[in-house]
Amino acid sequence: MSNILDGKGLAQQIKDEMATEVASMMINGDKIPHLAAVLVGEDPASQVYVRNKVRSCEQVGFKSTLIRKDAGISEEELLAVVEKLNQDPDIDGFIVQLPLPKHIDEHKVTLAIDPKKDVDGFHPSNFGRMAQGLPAYLPATPNGIMEMLKRYEVPTEGKEVVVLGRSNIVGMPMSILLAQKNYPGNASVTICHSRTKDLEEHTRRADIIVAAIGIPEFLKANMVKEGVVIIDVGINRVDDETRKRGYRLCGDVDFEGVSPKASLITPVPGGVGPMTVVSLLMNTLKASKGTV
Ligand code: NAD
Repeated sequence: MSNILDGKGLAQQIKDEMATEVASMMINGDKIPHLAAVLVGEDPASQVYVRNKVRSCEQVGFKSTLIRKDAGISEEELLAVVEKLNQDPDIDGFIVQLPLPKHIDEHKVTLAIDPKKDVDGFHPSNFGRMAQGLPAYLPATPNGIMEMLKRYEVPTEGKEVVVLGRSNIVGMPMSILLAQKNYPGNASVTICHSRTKDLEEHTRRADIIVAAIGIPEFLKANMVKEGVVIIDVGINRVDDETRKRGYRLCGDVDFEGVSPKASLITPVPGGVGPMTVVSLLMNTLKASKGTV
């Protein structure tokens, strides 16, 4: 049996389920979920991410609005855009794609978003609610990983989980969610980061490893035990002259080496990435139903 956690296939399955739900919303004359995305400047990666998000909305029948602003927009003008979206009754949820140009304070912009429309789950109010186990918009990547663990019925209770990385968007929320008194959760969680001493001592005893550090193929076979479950969040570009585009994508895990030892493993690409996009749609659907 394959040990692959197929995020791409699962994301498609969830999108199909959503498309069916949206179709029946239309028949019933209900309001169709509407996501807006604000893109500032010309950052190529951000353009790709936002395009994917908007395309995914279209695939499931959501309404989507893309608001593009010049990199020279002032902080005040951007805050006015946010406020307009906060007030627009037709917009259920919206995101402001990060990173923003240097002259704009990202934290200030995140704080300006109405937490009820904060489908990225970056507002401290949503983060705090999540940490207390209250209904909240979960950040997209952790939300996608939790959904994947649930749908694949991966046991987490009483397991030793090691999370590599402590960022606000992946590592930290992942560690909180997996420790909570819920399924998937009830695990004993250790967070490792750049200052961790003897990281391998932790990873070698882990039943589940979530790798989110941004170092290509960092986690090697000799650092994990037999039967480990691997969630590889990393998306890294490494030079590869055999490819037409001159690079290939890889995760934070040495897939070739670790996969034979793993009971389950997410590939890169095709693992956590597609689940991240779909989880934004899940949040938008929640927003349109007012269930958070
Ligand atoms: P980040 O850059 O904000 O944080 C990296 C974390 O790794 C830090 O907490 C740091 O302490 C830790 N770290 C750095 N070097 C380390 C080392 N040698 N040992 C242990 N820990 C170390 O990272 P992020 O934004 O969470 O992103 C991590 C990776 O996940 C990146 O490759 C990013 O592209 C990817 N990512 C993927 C998705 C997705 O949808 N698949 C979403 C978000 C981020």
